[in-house]
Amino acid sequence: MKLNVIVPLYNEEGNIDALFKSLSASLKSVKYTITFIDDGSNDNSYNILSDIYSKNKSTVKVIRFSRNFGKEAAMLAGLNVSKAQYTCIIDADLQQDPKYIMDMMKFLDANADYDEVAMVNDYAKEKTSQKFLKKTFYSIMEQTTGQKVQSGASDFRLMRSGVVDALLSIQEVNRFSKGLFSWVGFNIYYMSYSANKRFSGASKFNFRKQVSYAKEGLISFSTKPLKIATILGTLISIAAFLYFIVVLLQTLIYGKDLPGYASLMCVILFLGGIQLIVLGIIGEYIAKAYLEVKRRPIYITKNKLGFDDDIL
Ligand code: UDP
Ligand code: MG
Repeated sequence: MKLNVIVPLYNEEGNIDALFKSLSASLKSVKYTITFIDDGSNDNSYNILSDIYSKNKSTVKVIRFSRNFGKEAAMLAGLNVSKAQYTCIIDADLQQDPKYIMDMMKFLDANADYDEVAMVNDYAKEKTSQKFLKKTFYSIMEQTTGQKVQSGASDFRLMRSGVVDALLSIQEVNRFSKGLFSWVGFNIYYMSYSANKRFSGASKFNFRKQVSYAKEGLISFSTKPLKIATILGTLISIAAFLYFIVVLLQTLIYGKDLPGYASLMCVILFLGGIQLIVLGIIGEYIAKAYLEVKRRPIYITKNKLGFDDDIL
């Protein structure tokens, strides 16, 4: 098989048919399979998928999770069953036009020294606030992890099987793919595109989820926040020492009264706040370690269509 297209989806009933048509039209000239991963949808998505499967058994496979495990888990499930020469990941909402898959394939066919093509969103059609948030996220990631995380590089990418194997060799339970894609290395070519507006439905990532995703990414990939304690501790100690000298001189030389309890309260509350922040950061890492050592499965499959061990 030349190409396997992985489509993670959650409640995308309004998009699946249109996506399937668009994929089929774009990939006419190549031998491909499409693996849909239904990430525990509670709308009509699965029925639509099984209908598509029954009409296109040679090209379509479906994995259905027992509940919503998140896009990261869905992508992993797709990679786990991908045996093609090239593997592509694409969203179900048609924001990422399937026509680019052929462009990526042509590029990899022609350039043996590249292992992967990643589509980079130029944010041309995004709201300014979204653009700003996303750019800030990428720059924080890059500065804290010391690793190049190409700004705007989406999960929409085409990989050779070696890259898929490398991603699968990572045993982490908390997977932050945006970081893992660059962590595994390989020669990545970045191709620019403008993401379209969603075809139907609303984004599954609201502001709260985006902030939590960014926090997860940072903690999974960097231990720098832990150093905040050391840095803050040092700075505050220096400040406290200087202040101590000032107070000492004022009292001994100028005979001034010691400042009252208001300033004392400020210092105590300030330090208390900092200690809580630092404790919280340490707690985040302990929680991550706790979740990792439990080694729970990353996703649970309810049933599959198009695989030899069909449970129908
Ligand atoms: N998705 C998923 N599981 C989730 C959330 C999202 O499989 O828990 C899928 C979703 O159906 C879509 C892709 O991930 O195919 C990207 O999601 P979305 O379009 O909501 O994100 P955005 O494009 O707004 O970043
Ligand atoms: Mg989308």
